[in-house]
Amino acid sequence: MSRVAYVNGRYLPQAHATVHIEDRGYQFADGVYEVIEVHQGALIDEERHLQRLVRSLGELRIDAPMRAGAFRIVLREVIARNKLRQGFIYMQISRGVARRDHLFPDPVVRPSLVVTARLVDPAKAGAKAAKGIRVITMPDMRWKRPDIKTISLIANVLAKQAAKDRDSGEAWLLDADGLITEGSSSNAWIIDQSGTVITHPVTNAILQGVTRTTLLTLLEKLGHRVEERRFSPQEAYDAKEAFITGATSIVTPVVAIDDHVLGTGTPGPIALNLRAHFHDVAPRTD
Ligand code: PMP
Repeated sequence: MSRVAYVNGRYLPQAHATVHIEDRGYQFADGVYEVIEVHQGALIDEERHLQRLVRSLGELRIDAPMRAGAFRIVLREVIARNKLRQGFIYMQISRGVARRDHLFPDPVVRPSLVVTARLVDPAKAGAKAAKGIRVITMPDMRWKRPDIKTISLIANVLAKQAAKDRDSGEAWLLDADGLITEGSSSNAWIIDQSGTVITHPVTNAILQGVTRTTLLTLLEKLGHRVEERRFSPQEAYDAKEAFITGATSIVTPVVAIDDHVLGTGTPGPIALNLRAHFHDVAPRTD
């Protein structure tokens, strides 16, 4: 079945869906995006994702392309037309199409909106989590506002590729003090030898992951001790367990960091338990 994409008011076969060459998303990465998991046909954490999208738009001073109600209908239509039960919805809004000029278009132009669907094979995702991933650390080369979910992702792209080149699934990015901020497309977590779960606090240095927020609820429910503070690569090497979170990775265990193997080099029981129970607490909307 060919995939269906929504592009500026039309539902089109994805192979025929195109945007203008002077779209500011294409020329300046002048736009924002969100990725929402679809689990058993329902949207996971839709509210928080849409709130963050509104925040990102506000930070870049881009108008919403449509009202929230209409937007939700588009998301559901893309899910329905793609018969999506398990996977993701990707949505991207750019400042719109205008003659190339760094300044905002004046008068304001209509923002561009694209929504696509991606089907995921749950068995493959499960197998990856069961094996765990390795991560590397490297300097965080991104701009100073990674809390905004912009499509300007070149530093993230280079970091992820650097990880792949070293047989790893994620790169953990180091701030100016050499401490870990987050992954190139996920939040970073460790569990120390006493069982305390540690992750970077919400600041401008990380994206406030929706999965991160929901996982904090689960951690509290399960009675885990949590510290939201920065941590060093050395603490990560010495950790009992580690994992990443994100709408696409949910909770994925980390088994080695910069060639330091954690424990027996297999996914830790706490991370696996958090993954198993994530969807018990994550809000879902049909
Ligand atoms: N940090 C970065 C840099 C990301 O790209 C992502 C995934 N979008 C996350 C964290 C995790 O965010 P979420 O849980 O909302 O997917």
